[in-house]
Amino acid sequence: MAKKKTPSGVCSFCGQPADLLLPSMDGGAICENCIRSAYTCLENYYSENAPAKKEQLPDFGKLPTPKEIVDYLNNYVIGQDTAKKFLAVAVYNHYKRLCQPKTDDNVEIEKSNIVMVGPTGTGKTLLAKTIAKLLKVPFAIVDATVLTEAGYVGEDIESLLVRLLQACDYKVNEAERGIVFIDEIDKIARKGDNPSITRDVSGEGVQQGLLKLLEGSVVNVPPNGGRKHPDQKMIPVDTKNILFICGGAFEGIERKIAQRLNTHTVGYGSDMTKRKFQRDNLMSYVTPQDLRSFGLIPEIIGRLPILTNLEPLDREALKRILTEPKNAIVKQYEKLFLMDGIKLVFGEGVLDLIVDKAIEYKLGARGLRSMMETIMIDAMYEAPSSKRKTFTVEYDYAKERLEKANFDAMQ
Ligand code: ADP
Repeated sequence: MAKKKTPSGVCSFCGQPADLLLPSMDGGAICENCIRSAYTCLENYYSENAPAKKEQLPDFGKLPTPKEIVDYLNNYVIGQDTAKKFLAVAVYNHYKRLCQPKTDDNVEIEKSNIVMVGPTGTGKTLLAKTIAKLLKVPFAIVDATVLTEAGYVGEDIESLLVRLLQACDYKVNEAERGIVFIDEIDKIARKGDNPSITRDVSGEGVQQGLLKLLEGSVVNVPPNGGRKHPDQKMIPVDTKNILFICGGAFEGIERKIAQRLNTHTVGYGSDMTKRKFQRDNLMSYVTPQDLRSFGLIPEIIGRLPILTNLEPLDREALKRILTEPKNAIVKQYEKLFLMDGIKLVFGEGVLDLIVDKAIEYKLGARGLRSMMETIMIDAMYEAPSSKRKTFTVEYDYAKERLEKANFDAMQ
């Protein structure tokens, strides 16, 4: 506080040198100590006499309905209609639960953590990220593979929450309403049923550790992540209202599903049509029981009550991903060129070529971007210094660029 002495120079309350004039008291003044003690008196008075505080409920503005959530997701994510519906309902119920005032009917809506099963690169992370963007809540993606049971090399399970705290500048009350996406949850499956001498510190051990986070409890988070150590100051975070969305490819789970459905992924039979139908869509029959056969412990499965699956992306879906989403790859490149005053055009068959290559190298949607980058790199290098107003990527030009890149050698 800038010291501005009064003419008399003394505090009207304690007689010490004064810091401020009191305009309402003719010629009166006050020192910093008296200001502080008056402030404390006021605070004590209000906290003792304040009317009972009303329950503070988080304000999410107008909560979008499940249909509105799906409409929003459609702007960014192609296909995956089943997963979108499940996610939208689960997220809607979750935030409805947070906004619900306490009632006397003893009906407590439980948390609806979600698990999404589907091949890599089909949009699991994208779905979770897009929902978080819509709800304007902190969002963090964490990888389950780096976690190990406390005391072993790797990261403590509580460090999952560090990313979430970082996403909201360590504002704990915001983090406590956020969404955590745990990727590769399938990688912490139990490593076989045989009890062995080596402990399963990155599998079942981690699952046990995750339980308390998923169901909701106050956990002490090391502010910088990694391993906890005794002298570190911890941040307590209540996970009761944090929504956990887990994703995993669960490679090989089709076999478990097939066994359960009493069919075989390979085999002959009289009812071939039925078998074919089931083989093609086995993932859509996934149940909690299959996750258990895969190696998730029943307690974890119980805390992930919403189970949904994502479809592999076919040729048509991949082509739509190139052009349709709000920030589609093609739109991004068009924008980049337009910033140099150049209109970018893709010739006949170029987008199909990109899709074909992404499928050929089994890269799925993730491959689209790298294929496009490979084709465009020379053009992006030369175009800004050229005088041209249009740049057309012809089929032969694209094919030649992809051949030159020699993806086969990278496999
Ligand atoms: P994963 O299922 O492995 O979590 P991601 O969501 O990370 O896959 O997808 C990787 C990238 O592929 C996304 O960033 C996005 O660009 C693209 N992508 C994947 N699936 C879709 C989809 N269904 N719609 C639109 N883009 C998609």
